[in-house]
Amino acid sequence: VALKLSAAAVTDVGLLREVNEDSVFTSTDLYAVADGMGGHAAGDVASSLAVTVLRQISDSGELTPETLIQALTSANSAILTSAATHAGQAGMGTTVAGLGVVRLSGVEHWIAFNIGDSRVYRFADGQLQQLTVDHSEIGEMVAAGVIDAATAQVHPRRNVVTRCLGTDPPPDPDIWVFPPVPGERFLICSDGLVVEVPDAGISEALLHEPDAERAAAVLVRMAREAGGRDNITVVVVDHLPTSAEARIDDTTIPRTRLLGSL
Ligand code: CA
Repeated sequence: VALKLSAAAVTDVGLLREVNEDSVFTSTDLYAVADGMGGHAAGDVASSLAVTVLRQISDSGELTPETLIQALTSANSAILTSAATHAGQAGMGTTVAGLGVVRLSGVEHWIAFNIGDSRVYRFADGQLQQLTVDHSEIGEMVAAGVIDAATAQVHPRRNVVTRCLGTDPPPDPDIWVFPPVPGERFLICSDGLVVEVPDAGISEALLHEPDAERAAAVLVRMAREAGGRDNITVVVVDHLPTSAEARIDDTTIPRTRLLGSL
């Protein structure tokens, strides 16, 4: 990967759950969060199978949209196979959301993806944008403009996921491919963060903690302080500005022109 990146991941059981059913994975070209579902710690198995398959694809050569989609299909099969052969794993599943680097016509691009309600956000110029659309009853209502994000955050059915890994037929992932812009920052997280911390709080933390490791730690701490009712997993990926860009950004280019150039 030629992009200058800095990343940090934190996963936390939260204050009320006994088991952390989230799994997280980071490498040089792929970052992912999986949020498992299923009783008797089977959710933990499902999310860990998902990140294990993603790790294999990341280790086995250059990531492409095709190998990523193939990996998600393999992860789905691995979860179904395990569920069929182990007592107590029936019906287990997991979300997955992530960000990777792929090469298109020789040029590095981001690829963001999700299945379920784990999220990928982009933060740039002080603006937080959710790139993924939640595959949940409520998330689909938000995307359709039926209810707003604030209503969704407290909606009693916000946990009902409409797509997950561990289903037959396999779920379709949503995929976005887009060009990198130095200075941008990404957040990948499970719903244990967003049920506790509104977007404004997330923005605030991402704005005031320039270091990826500190930002990830602060976000998890905020979710715990707000109740920590679910497992909390956060990955922060910084696409570092080059030193020349950082200097120009600070001193010479008016803010409006920077925004306009994106
Ligand atoms: Ca969760």
